[in-house]
Amino acid sequence: MSLKSALSPSPAPALQLEQALQLLAQAGRAPPGGERGSAPWVQGLIDALVELSSRDALTGLANRRAFELTVAREIDRVARSGEPALLLVLDLDHFKRVNDTWGHAAGDEVLKAVAAALVECVRPMDLVARTGGEEFAIILPNCGAAFGQAVAERLRRRIETTPVAITPRQTIAVTISIGGAFAPQWVRSTPQLWLERADQQLYRAKAQGRNLVQLEPTAVSVVSAEEKQLLFDSFQLQDHE
Ligand code: GH3
Ligand code: MG
Ligand code: MG
Repeated sequence: MSLKSALSPSPAPALQLEQALQLLAQAGRAPPGGERGSAPWVQGLIDALVELSSRDALTGLANRRAFELTVAREIDRVARSGEPALLLVLDLDHFKRVNDTWGHAAGDEVLKAVAAALVECVRPMDLVARTGGEEFAIILPNCGAAFGQAVAERLRRRIETTPVAITPRQTIAVTISIGGAFAPQWVRSTPQLWLERADQQLYRAKAQGRNLVQLEPTAVSVVSAEEKQLLFDSFQLQDHE
């Protein structure tokens, strides 16, 4: 490379900037405010891109990546504060039938409607995510056993009683199965273990006939061998500090 070409500004950054703006436009987001190229404008662009990378394109909910980051943060918070927290996993019942009967586009309308209904049923501090095709998860910080059961039942009932308009003249009814597990208070866990426990409950809800809520009975009664080991490891770490 000659000195002249090495010193001349590369077109690559400008091109990437255009691509970033295009990405925002495709997602229906407004471009950043302020004078183009100014520090606040660039920061606005970065913020918008970070926000976009954490959202599911179809429903606008948090995506799997954002969900996993939030679960990990919540586990830390529960272990430090001892506050309860609930993880719900939700899966549409017989959703394949919806696609097979009404088509994939109708299925997508159902997913969007369910996502919006779920968000309406929880507090602003709760994170609703689309974690897979027709699977959702909700993290409810500071949520005790009695409230957890009530909110999960409210979600189930809301989906059951809200028909979805898949065309201007056609509405269909859908149901959802819900599994849930509370974070073990004062004990370190991992996102995988917490998710597995909630998934086991979802499996039970499906096996027992669907359109059901199944929560793990109490907050701390089920501490797995792996979680005990994590607690033991954290004590050992503190000993050496
Ligand atoms: P179950 O009650 O046991 O959960 O039955 P199900 O039919 O819901 O479960 P299954 O896992 O057999 O089917 C899930 C279906 O979800 C299959 C797939 O075509 C559909 N699906 C996954 N992602 C999307 C999507 O983004 N849009 C649409 N329309 N369908 C999707
Ligand atoms: Mg599924
Ligand atoms: Mg399903």
